[in-house]
Amino acid sequence: MTNDLLRPFEGNPRYLVVPGGLRDVHVHFRDPGVPEAETRVTGATAAAAGGFTCVTTMPNTTPAGDSPEWLREQLEDASLPCRIAPSACITRRRLGREVADLEALAAAGAVAFTDDGAFVDDAHVMEEAMRRAAKLGKPVMQHAVVPALLGAGVMRDCAVARRFNLPVMPPEAETEAVRRDIAICRTTGCALHIQHISCAGTVELIRAAQREGLPVTGEATPHHLLLSCDDIPDDDANWKMAPPLGCREDVAAIRAGVKDGTLGLFATDHAPHPAAKKAGGFRTSANGIIGLETAAAITWQVMVVEERMSPKDWIARWTTGPASLIGETPDPDSFTVIDTQANRAVDPDSFKSKSRNMPFTGMRFAAWPVLTVLRGHVTSKTTA
Ligand SMILES: [Zn+2]
Repeated sequence: MTNDLLRPFEGNPRYLVVPGGLRDVHVHFRDPGVPEAETRVTGATAAAAGGFTCVTTMPNTTPAGDSPEWLREQLEDASLPCRIAPSACITRRRLGREVADLEALAAAGAVAFTDDGAFVDDAHVMEEAMRRAAKLGKPVMQHAVVPALLGAGVMRDCAVARRFNLPVMPPEAETEAVRRDIAICRTTGCALHIQHISCAGTVELIRAAQREGLPVTGEATPHHLLLSCDDIPDDDANWKMAPPLGCREDVAAIRAGVKDGTLGLFATDHAPHPAAKKAGGFRTSANGIIGLETAAAITWQVMVVEERMSPKDWIARWTTGPASLIGETPDPDSFTVIDTQANRAVDPDSFKSKSRNMPFTGMRFAAWPVLTVLRGHVTSKTTA
């Protein structure tokens, strides 16, 4: 079956076959909690359309994912067009005060622990969590931002921040969080994964930690690779996410980190919201943008076309990189086919996601997924 599906693309240099399918270790499906933004069904359908065969859902749902029951719900529907390998909370109710029952969560199927959307600010709580996660052989994934340094910051210092007098985030809010967690990694030996990196200093800290032999990894999102805060056109919350877009030097450092392997994986941080939650400008709107259906196109453009990274390394950042973080190997019966010359503009009307919050509308990219196969079954097919 799989071989038959591949036959039309074999030997045609226009098509790139990605064995194992694309994987994303960072998605928000708002399920349970906000079905008008996304559900597991619409999220998995959007993932398949984006070329993904496995995604890791974040536990910042309502209620928070701190129980085996929550994990069972994430895993209950085996017929979804994309497999879910869920993460679970580091702390009870994601409040950062008391470590969750990590042992029960791991037994129920959590592939990693994270309080994503919030930083575990108490170093003692984080150290206990990392000691216990290390014993379970599971990584801890950190949303690295020190709240006291972030303050009310909604973007980095840039022209739009000054024009609208918006509070800014200093890069130290991220780098100090990363510095603290690397120190805890050193004492606990727990695998530490830094989510959605936005600062050059973070890339350098991770590079140094890896040189030291510490089990520290980091992810680059399509938006932090493509855009800088200087691209923000207006007080438009479709450009608002946490952490915010970095400056041009940050973008260059994140690209260099992906290219040299310091950042071994891409991840979307797909964060759907209803339009009303994004209507109020930077100061009051929700954080986050959707990204599953544009992820392959953007990362190919940035890293392969502009930065001359090899297609083989691009594949690794979407397959073996994320798989090894969560202790899996790519599935031989799943794959994605990318048309590297599709040359299409981003059209939100074509999205399978329930939400439309993102800044990419109308941007043109060369490479788009055309076929996604999960365990021998076609889950998405695009006809040119
Ligand atoms: Zn986050």
